[in-house]
Amino acid sequence: MAAQRWVYAFSEGDGKDKKLLGGKGANLCEMTQIGLNVPPGFVITTQACLDYLAHAERQLPEGLPDEIRTHIRRLEQQTGKVFGGADNPLLVSVRSGSAMSMPGMMDTILNLGLNEDTLSGLIHQTGNERFGWDAYRRFIQLFGHVALGIADTHFDEHFDAIKRQAGVKADIGLDAEHLEEICRLFLEVVEEQTGRPFPRDPYQQLELAVKAVFNSWTGKRAVDYRRQFNITPEMANGTAVNVVTMVFGNMGNDCATGVGFTRDPGTGENVMFGEYLVNAQGEDVVAGIRTPKPVSAMADEMPEMYRQLVELRNKLESHYREVQDFEYTIERGTLYCLQTRNGKMNAAARVRTSVEMTNEGLLSREEALLRVEPDMLEQLLHPRLDPEHKSTPVATGLPASPGAAAGKAVFDADRAELLGRAGQKVILVREETKPEDIHGFFASEGILTSRGGKTSHAAVVARGMGKPCVAGAEGIVVNVKARMAAVGETTFQEGDTLTIDGTTGNVYIGEIATVDPEFSDNLKTLLAWSDAVARLKVMANADTPAAAQKAVDYGAQGIGLCRTERMFNAVDRLPVVVEMILADTLEERRDTLDKLLPMQRGDFKEIFRVMSPRPVTVRLLDPPMHEFLPTEAQLLEELEHLQKLHVTMQGVGELVGSLRLLRPGARHTDMPAPFDVLNAELVAEAIAKKRQMLNKVRVLYEVNPMLGHRGVRLGITYPEIYRMQIQAVLEAAAELQREGIDVIPEIMVPQVISPEELKIVKQYTEEVQQQVERHYDVSLNYRFGTMMETVRSTLRAERIAGYADFFSFGTNDLTQAAFSFSREDAENKFLPQYIARGILRDNPFEALDYNGVLKLMEIAVKDGRKVRPDLKVGICGEHGGHPASIRHCHHIDLSYVSCSAPRVPVARLAAAQARLTEEEYQ
Ligand code: PEP
Ligand code: MG
Repeated sequence: MAAQRWVYAFSEGDGKDKKLLGGKGANLCEMTQIGLNVPPGFVITTQACLDYLAHAERQLPEGLPDEIRTHIRRLEQQTGKVFGGADNPLLVSVRSGSAMSMPGMMDTILNLGLNEDTLSGLIHQTGNERFGWDAYRRFIQLFGHVALGIADTHFDEHFDAIKRQAGVKADIGLDAEHLEEICRLFLEVVEEQTGRPFPRDPYQQLELAVKAVFNSWTGKRAVDYRRQFNITPEMANGTAVNVVTMVFGNMGNDCATGVGFTRDPGTGENVMFGEYLVNAQGEDVVAGIRTPKPVSAMADEMPEMYRQLVELRNKLESHYREVQDFEYTIERGTLYCLQTRNGKMNAAARVRTSVEMTNEGLLSREEALLRVEPDMLEQLLHPRLDPEHKSTPVATGLPASPGAAAGKAVFDADRAELLGRAGQKVILVREETKPEDIHGFFASEGILTSRGGKTSHAAVVARGMGKPCVAGAEGIVVNVKARMAAVGETTFQEGDTLTIDGTTGNVYIGEIATVDPEFSDNLKTLLAWSDAVARLKVMANADTPAAAQKAVDYGAQGIGLCRTERMFNAVDRLPVVVEMILADTLEERRDTLDKLLPMQRGDFKEIFRVMSPRPVTVRLLDPPMHEFLPTEAQLLEELEHLQKLHVTMQGVGELVGSLRLLRPGARHTDMPAPFDVLNAELVAEAIAKKRQMLNKVRVLYEVNPMLGHRGVRLGITYPEIYRMQIQAVLEAAAELQREGIDVIPEIMVPQVISPEELKIVKQYTEEVQQQVERHYDVSLNYRFGTMMETVRSTLRAERIAGYADFFSFGTNDLTQAAFSFSREDAENKFLPQYIARGILRDNPFEALDYNGVLKLMEIAVKDGRKVRPDLKVGICGEHGGHPASIRHCHHIDLSYVSCSAPRVPVARLAAAQARLTEEEYQ
């Protein structure tokens, strides 16, 4: 058997094999092989990383050191340079890269191969002493930090001290002597911190660097990132190492370094986007140490280079057929492409590029639909600042990631995490951010930095997360130690509220109102394409006319669930509902239901009018009745107060009597108001009412109300309630029909367990229908159906279908029932541990349970359609807006999904993707 191969030159590696070569490595191979000007180099495979990490003492796998030497020799031949050579030294960069892009998660070492000998060669070759020492000091720090684990602060202290001594602000102001002094100090730092001199042998440097990259795969930052974004070993396992010949953007004014996007990742506009710095090295742009220029400025400053850059951009897009995020360096008039990867974009940009790239012929519609994560669309529904607001910004930075956010200012990531976890809204304010701040990003509403550009770490990471970010707001002076910041005369402290607008770059003190966003034309187009492809229809869960309007605006094809009990909670309804519950006789209850009838009819009319001609599924009363009454504890407390008041009033009454005896001439009306003895009677009346309510609450008390007297069981025991609701639905439909408005109401019965229950409610419905048709002289068009949310209903589907035009899976209750987990408590109690320990893969209340609940659904669909092949079947539990669950629903051939209005666009796209990927469904 041939020995395992650990290393591939860029000219050899398979550009499609990201698993083995990592995303960056595979791309470098592919870029080289399609003829882009990539500096020569090689990739050490992810398999080598796994082998290294599996070794008890973390040793490089056998044969790897030799392969590395062979490939370095090949680089020497290609470039004419020598690794460790004093005359014409070969320097390399060492970078990580796994199969999934993990921006800023791993470390890069530049200028590897430098020592005193090779440095003199570099200086001699370039004739640029300053450049040489600058490269060396960068290398010592990066290597010291990444490979030897020395904290940056040890280096930064010296660097800042020398800058102060030299009286310069930016590093560009330092001359060769300063930099030489910095190198000397840095070498001392390494010796002090590690107890050993800085390694001079380039091969030893390379070996340490490779190990450091491998080790970073199990470092906290990388592990946190993978956990946050659910990156499993199937998606990315281990990191590759890319060893690339160094090219220099800091050899003079005919050199530059930059980062670019083939399109604007903030808006999606078809313009090259990015920034560059003349006479600088890569990390200057990303770390935001100097503020770079927009790429458009290069057209004037370096026209030939700009032309080549545009050519590179076009080649990248037409080859990858995807927006690319690329890095380049210009070394003495030659443009090198250092890396490229699929660009991370916010939702607006992803939608716009999908539509535009399809219209340009770069993508098919199917590809366009598949390149947008459905969940991302919710970002587009995020609020933006109220355009009417009159506040003046205190500072303006770069609009680095769009959207608006308000929260309390915090000045470090740990604090952001602490407060964020405690449920507070925070804005992370930093001079600049670094990868180790990542946990602070997760916890914050938005990010504000005072330094750095649109491609700084803060900007890139915030955009990836869809969080607003204002970067490089240079007017703000951050003082982390004092936990405050100053902007001109104004200061703000930790805990003060800020609003940032990542669309304009403005920063405000205080909270500014936000408004809901509108649908862009591009989003409408993409969703129209989705609807044309999808087999599942998308409905909305909506209980009010306003929510119904939103559902229509978001493209819902109807209402799949209107929970009528929510209408009962309105301020003018609740007292009537309470009266109905307290009624002791059927007559009394009918009287109160007569008051509720016109109210419900009015609600339905409005909702039907908004939705016409789309169907609206109205669910009959579901929750247990005591949900509308106060709790026993609350009533007892109120009673106690009233009783005390009553005693006081009685005492006051007696006092008034005594006073009258003392002043026989005084009349009752001469007494001040609080002495009015009649109040005591009012209080007594209130006490009697509260007692009645308390008795009712006690009568209605249930140990397990969610499994108790609710849903259809109420309809069976109090038929007058369901009859009233059915009448309200059908009368609303009849009145609208007479106005010439098309409506298709659907009456849905909750909590059904048997065909008999449904048969009884269907009978009421038919009786009410006849009355309404007679009264209004119309012929009604409506459907009658059931929720499927008990286990038994799914197993009795065949018989139940005999009485139902449609089924709608209430997967909130069905999940609760299938797992015997309380939907109210499980998520706060034991579920997080179940998931962390791998007992369950996902939270079943969020992601439809494939192995249990879905099986029950499948049985119900099959059995129901045996009786009624045209049976309409949908889902209206929370899972109806969850993309992976929607895919399952497509697979078991549901007719529709129904979810809250803001999830409707997500569901529309997910439904299309489910159709497009049905072949791959397992
Ligand atoms: C369900 O159980 O899934 C459902 C939609 O009903 P509710 O959440 O109102 O119980
Ligand atoms: Mg339910």
